[in-house]
Amino acid sequence: MTGVTVVGGGLAGMAAAWEIRKSGVPVRLLEASAELGGMSGSKVIEGRVEDHGVHIFPAWYRNTLHLVEELGITGNLRECDNFYQLMPGEFPTFRTFQTISSMGDLIRDIRSGVTPAADRMLFYYGIIDLLAQRYHGRDESLASFLRSRWYLTEAVIADLEHLFVASSAAEGDLASAASFRGSVAAFSQHPGKVRMPRGSLQESFIGPFRKRLEDSGVEVRTGVELLEVSVDGDRLDSLTVRAGDTVTEPVTGHVVLAVPHGCLSRLGRPVTSALRPPFGVDELRSRPLGALHLYLRRRLPGLPNEHVRLVGSPHAITLLDVGQVWDGHTTSVLNCVVGRVSRLAELSESEAVKVLVDELMSYMPVLTWDDIEHVCYQPHFAVPFYAPGPGSDRFRPNSSTALTNLHVAGDFCAGPPGMAGMEGAVRSGLEAAESVRRVLRPDAPRVPIRDTDPVNPSAARVGKVALAPVAAALRLLAGRRRAPRKGSR
Ligand SMILES: Cc1cc2nc3c(=O)[nH]c(=O)nc-3n(C[C@H](O)[C@H](O)[C@H](O)COP(=O)(O)OP(=O)(O)OC[C@H]3O[C@@H](n4cnc5c(N)ncnc54)[C@H](O)[C@@H]3O)c2cc1C
Repeated sequence: MTGVTVVGGGLAGMAAAWEIRKSGVPVRLLEASAELGGMSGSKVIEGRVEDHGVHIFPAWYRNTLHLVEELGITGNLRECDNFYQLMPGEFPTFRTFQTISSMGDLIRDIRSGVTPAADRMLFYYGIIDLLAQRYHGRDESLASFLRSRWYLTEAVIADLEHLFVASSAAEGDLASAASFRGSVAAFSQHPGKVRMPRGSLQESFIGPFRKRLEDSGVEVRTGVELLEVSVDGDRLDSLTVRAGDTVTEPVTGHVVLAVPHGCLSRLGRPVTSALRPPFGVDELRSRPLGALHLYLRRRLPGLPNEHVRLVGSPHAITLLDVGQVWDGHTTSVLNCVVGRVSRLAELSESEAVKVLVDELMSYMPVLTWDDIEHVCYQPHFAVPFYAPGPGSDRFRPNSSTALTNLHVAGDFCAGPPGMAGMEGAVRSGLEAAESVRRVLRPDAPRVPIRDTDPVNPSAARVGKVALAPVAAALRLLAGRRRAPRKGSR
């Protein structure tokens, strides 16, 4: 077909198809599974629509939120004020991290009590220090950054690392400090409230998105898996796909590969040698981020209707009682994300569920086995999540390749530091659309990509130096509090 074939119907592929179609070019979107959306979608499992996992949309996701607005579905997301923190033994008392949009929010956050106030202030000093780092072309692990700070206490380090693994499945030594700096900088430029879907991802986001794609003329085909490609000179020459039968078709137009990086690697040298940088994707690593959905027979008393983290939980569990938020539920439905699901890889499904439910019960003693009517466990071992590792940015591929008619997209693609998740996927889809435009419609306007302004390390350094005496005093305070004199209580 002349026009553009987008392979991979996750968010990156959908965003690429949407943007390319706007220029009037024929587009078809091929997806291996039965549904579009990939990791930010849902599928029917045992008769129920199950999200791949709970998704949050921070205010700095400028491209994603613009897309949501363009699709006319802003109302399908609700704004959240709090990120609740449940400490062991404290249920039904929750501490809260605020969405910081004023000094008052900051003070309430410092007094939340997840870590003592002095430690929380040192955490914020650490954020200024991180912003003061010049990571241009250099990187280190998040653990190495945190552990080399003289003022950080063990409590702050442990809490930050736990927060990180809960949302990305990457332990501190496998997480990029430069990338973390990038997302903190983006957050500091757009500190508004986070949003969460009012229903399943399919209902709130991917379903309406698919409809708009089809209405705009994109041909969507699901159940079509790309198996192989061939190259002739500087062009992608053919695609071999399986859709029932296996067929090889010539490529007459352009192709956007919006499949996970592991899939690009499996396509082999014809593709990986054409990437910029060549073979970079082979160096990228992803890790499973699991989901456990528990349908309860009753509404669990005492649970808030916003995002909750089980502080210090061994499997780094966060959860949302979607039964309180989504239409059509009268009882609790706990949608949990499991950051350390890989620890359960050796267990059977029922053993893993038992470990996780026992952990939930240890935090929420009101929950009993009798409450649980249905369980959906998705460890996602075969569909791991990409979070940038230390130094990995140099391996992330650009959307343009050495083949004139091949472009790539996906949350793992190159972007400003900190770019990953849904924003990374959408942004990469726009980059791929721009790469196609440059070749097919060089006179048409550029595809708009909304990046946040970078934070200048020098400005942060001024704050770091000015506040150093305060940090030293806070550190003394924190140290004294943790090491009581002999005999004192
Ligand atoms: C539990 C969990 C929670 C998450 N929460 C958040 C969150 O709160 N906020 C956030 O920003 N991000 C979150 N993410 C990450 C986010 O979902 C992903 O970063 C994003 O959806 C990736 O989109 P993508 O299109 O790049 O990749 P994918 O979603 O992986 O899409 C790739 C698509 O390609 C298809 N495909 C693969 N191989 C082939 C082939 N050979 N032929 C044809 N098609 C193929 C796949 O089926 C898939 O549909 C979460 C992820 C998980 C797992």
